[in-house]
Amino acid sequence: MTRDAPDYPARVAPAIADLSRLDGVISECRACPRLVAWREEVATTKRAAFRHQEYWGRPVPGFGAVDAEIGLLGLAPAAHGGNRTGRIFTGDRSGDVLFAALHRAGLANQPTSVSRDDGLQLAHTRVFSAVRCAPPDNKPTPAERDTCAPWLHRELELIRPTLRVVVALGGFAWSAFWPALRAVYGMKPPTPRPAFGHGTLWRGPAGVPALLGCYHVSQQNTFTGRLTPAMLDDVFARAKDLAGL
Ligand code: SF4
Repeated sequence: MTRDAPDYPARVAPAIADLSRLDGVISECRACPRLVAWREEVATTKRAAFRHQEYWGRPVPGFGAVDAEIGLLGLAPAAHGGNRTGRIFTGDRSGDVLFAALHRAGLANQPTSVSRDDGLQLAHTRVFSAVRCAPPDNKPTPAERDTCAPWLHRELELIRPTLRVVVALGGFAWSAFWPALRAVYGMKPPTPRPAFGHGTLWRGPAGVPALLGCYHVSQQNTFTGRLTPAMLDDVFARAKDLAGL
């Protein structure tokens, strides 16, 4: 089965038995030609500040506890962040804000995430994105989102026994949860879909994780004060409570 076929994730993901195997297979995926070209072009041209570094330039798998109660769902890796370092939210300002907050919440052993070998460990928490390759302008197409979704769905299935709450970082992640609800939990999403909002909480039946909205940790939000450290602290305190931690 070729890794550049559009149905590669849908055909391969359901049979993968554990997270470490899933992470490895995801990182070899080439199903979206536009994103493959972009991630590799960025990895070749680089940003001047990182010109001596070797970019990852591949899909970025999830990161964190294999028995997580809390899932943090983002949009996609950043071109010079996750696409450079190979770890989601790592090596850019968004990650600086996110992991500092996770550390304050007691969910990370250190406040920074700079490289795949920096010793960071997450407790009770796994971070992943709806689309696993860096997209131009941070905007995947609907077709790319749907092509990549089986990776997310399998990741959620594999942590299903412990997962209690998904924190959606931004509206794109919020929207990506509803197809996962159907694929992973066999549940028809609510109609109409609850609108995304910071602090919005959706709760399903027992056995289905709650969904908690949080503004994305992008510089656009954190530099303008739309999302403050105190707001993130409130979100993670609430997530921990929902997770029974
Ligand atoms: S976005 Fe997802 S499906 Fe598309 S190439 Fe990257 S990992 Fe594969």
